[in-house]
Amino acid sequence: MNNLQQWDQQYVWHPFTPMKLWLNSEPLVIERGEGVYLFDTEGRRYIDGVSSLWCNVHGHNHPVINAAIQEQLGKIAHSTMLGLASGPSIELAKQLVEITPAGLEKVFYSDSGATAVEIAIKIAFQYWRNLGENERTRFIALKQSYHGDTMGSVSVGGIEIFHQIFGPLTFKSIFSESPHPYRFEGTADQCREHCLGQMDNLLAEHSDEVAAVVVEPLVQGAAGLIVHPEGFLAGVAKLAKEHGVLLIVDEVATGFGKTGTMFACEHEEVQPDIMCLAKGLTGGYLPVAATLVSERIFEAFLSEPYLETTFYHGHTYTGNALGCAAALGCLRVFEQEKTLENLSAKIELLEKHLEQIGQLDYVGDVRNRGVMAGVELVADKATKKDFPGELRIGAQLCDLMRAKGVLLRPLGNVLVIMPPLTISLDELQELMEVVSQTIEQDLPELVRSSCNRKISRKDAKAPRKI
Ligand SMILES: *Cc1c(COP(=O)(O)O)cnc(C)c1O
Repeated sequence: MNNLQQWDQQYVWHPFTPMKLWLNSEPLVIERGEGVYLFDTEGRRYIDGVSSLWCNVHGHNHPVINAAIQEQLGKIAHSTMLGLASGPSIELAKQLVEITPAGLEKVFYSDSGATAVEIAIKIAFQYWRNLGENERTRFIALKQSYHGDTMGSVSVGGIEIFHQIFGPLTFKSIFSESPHPYRFEGTADQCREHCLGQMDNLLAEHSDEVAAVVVEPLVQGAAGLIVHPEGFLAGVAKLAKEHGVLLIVDEVATGFGKTGTMFACEHEEVQPDIMCLAKGLTGGYLPVAATLVSERIFEAFLSEPYLETTFYHGHTYTGNALGCAAALGCLRVFEQEKTLENLSAKIELLEKHLEQIGQLDYVGDVRNRGVMAGVELVADKATKKDFPGELRIGAQLCDLMRAKGVLLRPLGNVLVIMPPLTISLDELQELMEVVSQTIEQDLPELVRSSCNRKISRKDAKAPRKI
């Protein structure tokens, strides 16, 4: 290992990473990027198959976004939005209001998806307080949903392995079943109706105490790329309206073209009361997030300053000028390169490969919406039986692909494929060939060898007490 690799292991604690495993591996240190490619310190080249955790949009080192940041850097990097305004944050807010669904009129900035959701929750909560409906304090979320890792976002999160341990610290949300056709006995339509029925019942049962429904639109990303049946999002929006509660749509993962349209809401003509944006907002360059709200919500916060209707929330780097300049650059590239118009051929090619992959052994389900794709690996195709998590089949398979120049990060036993939107047809072909070849040629052997040295939980060492 080189110095950087050694120091990484000595000094750095990585996010969402079992560090014991990490310390036994050789860290891959990325030095630069160009388009869809990443280069490590040894000069090896990889396709960035998950767009650097779903946030890169137009490729790395894009001249337009680079220039936008450099131009802003020559003026000022950051000034506070508490008591002051700044050009890039104003221009970006205007453009975001223009391109998001009708009805969203005001932009509140922060710096990550988690804070965008945290803010949405606090705004929804305080909205009802400001109106005097103090009992509306609860949120309905979907099981297996993911909205980020701050405590409010965790409270509306439903992924056991991430969230359960923090149960005692969170507020109690109401969870409704998420529609996952592959794991549902029945058709996709029945799956949708079943889940909408449950949501309807929960809204009725808790009619006086619900503040808002929170959903990831169309695709539940971190749950393993669960693709909702068509009409589910529109159904949830209709129910929220009927029951008089707010709808918060978390487009942190789906926003900025990932589902084929600029925002997932557009597919079902949904106009949420609150929308959360982050990940792709700056093209994957800088940490900027935005929570957009309707005029009706905003107005509930207008009153005399001495009354407690003000939203007392903010972050030091809120509305960061470099970040907003990057986001403006990202939006400019969407126009200049007709990114969305060029996407359909790529989605078609992706789907063609996915269909072939779906035929392979140990592949249980393949699903996608736009360029967000999941390949679910199962121990038994017929019974849909899962691989035991401790075998880390998904992670091991990704390690094999890494050696072939493709970087993917799985979610459990679901391979996630989510390339930058700029990926060319040739690059996409290369990416998908590596994925399908590795599944076809290496997975059977990997399954055999992993099952042989299966470790049981009982044998695992408990952590030492301090
Ligand atoms: C990634 C993600 C978040 C959290 O975003 P961070 O920037 O990592 O805090 C929230 N919601 C969804 C749907 C996400 O995919």
